Amino acid sequence: MYYVGIDVGGTNLVAGLVDREGSILRKAGVPVDKSLDGAGLCRQLVRLAVEVCREEGVALDQIQAVGAGFPGLVDNRTGVVVQTANMPFRDTPVRQLFQQEWDVPFFLGNDANCAAIGEYWAGAAKGCDPAVVVTLGTGIGSGMVVGGRLFTGYANSGMEAGHMIIQPGGVPCGCGNHGCWEQYGSATALIRMTRQAMEQDRHSVLWELCGGDLSKVQGRTAFQGARQGDGAALRVLENYRQGLSIGLIDLVNILQPQIICLGGGISNADDDLLLTPLRELVKKGSYDKSMPTRLERAALGNDAGVVGAALLCDMI
Ligand SMILES: [Zn+2]
Repeated sequence: MYYVGIDVGGTNLVAGLVDREGSILRKAGVPVDKSLDGAGLCRQLVRLAVEVCREEGVALDQIQAVGAGFPGLVDNRTGVVVQTANMPFRDTPVRQLFQQEWDVPFFLGNDANCAAIGEYWAGAAKGCDPAVVVTLGTGIGSGMVVGGRLFTGYANSGMEAGHMIIQPGGVPCGCGNHGCWEQYGSATALIRMTRQAMEQDRHSVLWELCGGDLSKVQGRTAFQGARQGDGAALRVLENYRQGLSIGLIDLVNILQPQIICLGGGISNADDDLLLTPLRELVKKGSYDKSMPTRLERAALGNDAGVVGAALLCDMI
């Protein structure tokens, strides 16, 4: 039997034909057509899912289940995508719309949870339980597998670790609170911190790295500056790691996972600038130092979402 996983992103829709081991046998994607509504996008998901099966010569009755990961709040019980950021899904009955075109068991997940399943099944967290996957992007996404099952809380919003408050009265967050972890540990936060440091240091090499244009600062800019020994860049990274480590320490002390995998573009930074010092900080802050949590880079990159969506059927 095979599975189809679909990663619904704000920019691209990607479907993959996945086997039991979590390997992607065939993948197809299209850019998101901004003119389509939720129902139109659902029809596109069906087309993509069917396409990867046909291209690989797999009959549709060989597909055990289809799963789709969305950037937002989903309710797998009802099959409804409740809300998404920057996409036209709002209380959209995605399962019903999908099954009108292809009657197959269909599962819904959010993208961070799908990434956790993907890494647990076929990536860096294979064989680890509990396994937590933290994705550093626009915000901080997180998901956890415990006892071989995805943990989602009682109504799908559990493990929103990005909104743990780590700083009372801190930086305002889109969720309405102040001082959420993602305001200190996401790629967006790193970019904000880099810009602030630049404004305070007109001679920093960071200015050269972004052509003198603050709007060109990226997540990697501070790492590039640090590589050249730039003082402002090194201080930015020290602050950034500090904020990132607080949330990781909280996760370790609450959940004691066997592993935490870090994903997202930022996680590709050189070890000596990110993972190695982060491991030290997390170790120092862990309550039980005799049974430490491993901190590793996620292994599947963007494929984690597709693999995890495909295997949702066995995890929820
Ligand atoms: Zn928040």
